[in-house]
Amino acid sequence: MSTIPPKTLNPRSKTANHSASVAKKAASKKNSPPKDKAPEDYRPTIWENMTPSQKTEVESLAQEYRQFLTEAKTERTTLAKVLSWAKDAGLTDLAKSGPAPGGGYLVHHGKLLGLAIPGAKNDEGFNLIVTHGDAPRLDLKPRCLYESGGLGFFKSNLYGGLKKFQWLARPLAMWGFCVLKDGREVTFRYGEDENDPVLTITDLLPHLDSRVQRDKKLVDAFPAERLNALLASRPFGQPNDKNRLKKTVTDFLLSRWGLTEDDLISSEIELVPAGPAKEVGLDASLIGGYGQDDRLSTFVAAKAILEVKKPAKPLLLIVFDREEIGSYGSTGAETNFITRLAAAALTKTAKGTDWLTMTETLAKSQAISADVEAAFDPTFKEVHDELNAARLGYGPCLTRYTGGAGKYGASEARAEYMAKIRRVFDEAQIAWQSSLLGKQEYGGGGTVALSLAYHGVSVVDCGAPLLSMHSPFEIASKADLWMAKKALKAFLSNA
Ligand code: MN
Ligand code: MN
Repeated sequence: MSTIPPKTLNPRSKTANHSASVAKKAASKKNSPPKDKAPEDYRPTIWENMTPSQKTEVESLAQEYRQFLTEAKTERTTLAKVLSWAKDAGLTDLAKSGPAPGGGYLVHHGKLLGLAIPGAKNDEGFNLIVTHGDAPRLDLKPRCLYESGGLGFFKSNLYGGLKKFQWLARPLAMWGFCVLKDGREVTFRYGEDENDPVLTITDLLPHLDSRVQRDKKLVDAFPAERLNALLASRPFGQPNDKNRLKKTVTDFLLSRWGLTEDDLISSEIELVPAGPAKEVGLDASLIGGYGQDDRLSTFVAAKAILEVKKPAKPLLLIVFDREEIGSYGSTGAETNFITRLAAAALTKTAKGTDWLTMTETLAKSQAISADVEAAFDPTFKEVHDELNAARLGYGPCLTRYTGGAGKYGASEARAEYMAKIRRVFDEAQIAWQSSLLGKQEYGGGGTVALSLAYHGVSVVDCGAPLLSMHSPFEIASKADLWMAKKALKAFLSNA
């Protein structure tokens, strides 16, 4: 646990935090601070205890992860990636009849995915991981195209909790999924290839911003209705024509993708930060990129579940949509998808799926709500309770409860369940930390843990810490990515 200094741990306790034993080992290493000079609360990061071969493993996982982040920036593309890995691993469609000895998948509405791996025992519930594939972004409004001042624009609509000013004056890409009236589907991305033009939202120059932005509260300085993406400046047609900039855009949409302006009404077009995920730092120890909340967890959970061979308990992974807006909607966690997935998995076993079996199996199940945690940011110390803050490089965080002040809206993990997960992690030599989101009365957050708790599932939040969460460029540690995968694998195999 990152936030408890080693001196407060009982070294004789079997469940003493792994970090404590790691601390001792590291203190004797050459490249660690000398024992007599290390501060009392010195704890080594994961990096300090890594063997050369583990370091190679970390780098190759990080490289694969960066590619995933670059290629999966929407909930649909995230689902498609995970689904392709599942199919490669031999999983088959659970919606079809017949056995699925190697496990199966269930897709709902192209945006919600479940994986199921059979286990040896079916009486003790599932070991289940849930993540989410959606991220804060700007959607296009159904009627979005307009021209003004000789320029063409798309009007956007906020999706999720983003800081609006972070989206101005930066390259944006457009990822689209459009369905025409005749049912044809058009999928595109624009602004991601090296030679693609990008879109952008303009900001006001500092010379003129005093009344409109600078003298206002942050929340008022950037109204959502001003987040309009710049599309075109070259007029279409003849000088006497009307709406020449709009026509420039409609002509492009039609010739490039066969879309009319009305087709945008039945489209999901998302504006996301353009460009690839990058290594960050002079030491390249970090990964920067959009949508790591919660594609980091989705990536490691999918890799973990597909690597577990012959688990004792049956395993489930669900990648939810709509977490960032409260989990409502037919592809969110506030649906009966978990019951459907569990039933689909159980029908392939001798247990069957009568009501009692179903509800009891779920109530016995154990879950990790794999979602990222806010990392301690030394630049904004005042929002963190330093004793309970997550640190980059110390492994995935077990977050017993989220919610706002007074634990309002929190799904809190029971002491017994916390003890079990600690034990499982420690026995598997996982470096992990105990954390809370921030100080009380400074805000708050939530995860899909609540929706699982509804079924009586034991659930705790666990994920890697991130800096700049919900920004267009979120920061994670390569070491935490690697350790988060190991942690989830240990949970699936041994909990
Ligand atoms: Mn999240
Ligand atoms: Mn989030």
